[in-house]
Amino acid sequence: MKKTTCNNLRGACDAEITGSTPEEMGTNSKKHVMEMIQSGDQAHIDAVESMKNLTPEDQKAWYDDFVKGFDDLPDA
Ligand SMILES: [Zn+2]
Repeated sequence: MKKTTCNNLRGACDAEITGSTPEEMGTNSKKHVMEMIQSGDQAHIDAVESMKNLTPEDQKAWYDDFVKGFDDLPDA
């Protein structure tokens, strides 16, 4: 299992996000961001907005980079 922070996943805080695969980490990250948004956290609302403003190509490039760097993340 690997770990990173919300910030490293284009989020808005230092919360630790873990996952055994990039997909699992992505799911856990989304879950965290959704919880923060539901509690009304403006920083996470802005983070999602800025992600939405990326082109699909940029989103894919970012995700590809994330997958490529996944093995280099620290172990959880
Ligand atoms: Zn966060």
